[in-house]
Amino acid sequence: MIVHSNLHVEDAVFRRVIEAGDYGIHRVREGQFLRILDLEGNQAADTLFYRTDDPGERYCAMNTVREQGNVYLTAGSTLKTNENNDMLRIVADTCGRHDTLGGACATESNTVRYGLEKRFMHACRDSWMLAIQEHEEFGLSKEDITHNINFFMNVPITTDGGLTFADGISGAGKYVELKALMDVVVLISNCPQLNNPCNGYNPTSIELLVWDS
Ligand SMILES: [Zn+2]
Repeated sequence: MIVHSNLHVEDAVFRRVIEAGDYGIHRVREGQFLRILDLEGNQAADTLFYRTDDPGERYCAMNTVREQGNVYLTAGSTLKTNENNDMLRIVADTCGRHDTLGGACATESNTVRYGLEKRFMHACRDSWMLAIQEHEEFGLSKEDITHNINFFMNVPITTDGGLTFADGISGAGKYVELKALMDVVVLISNCPQLNNPCNGYNPTSIELLVWDS
């Protein structure tokens, strides 16, 4: 569902460009608005959310999908935690559909899917591991790296129930915007994947923006 935001870029209290292959980690307070902006289009943003004061409570794909009765995320979706609390709500979306099922790329999956020589390519899981090591202040550990959202990524379900990674439906300047319903930490890997069309075979930058309520 396409819903445009009323927020103005010049009013944002935080802005940060994340290059492809890099990560972003940031606290978002309850009531603040977080926008993820696809600067050049056709980029996948692999995203995890944690409750700031208890990272053991985190975004949960199963609860989110079950409660809303839909596997895709878009405006109106409420992201649920593993304790089934409301975590964030998508309040604007100019892309229209975001993936909950595809998971994140890793050196292991690159090797299995695309060939042994892909083993040493950079992957989203590497970026998350680097983030939690370089930012111990967030209190995250390896066991907190769990199932993620792929904002902007197109993972259609086939008629026989399979999943495919298809060419993106996002474009330059498209965004998704979420209102935090609790204090959260957002951890994003801007996907460096080169082997499937999730980034159009050309990973590009995204931007994080935050507004006060
Ligand atoms: Zn990735």
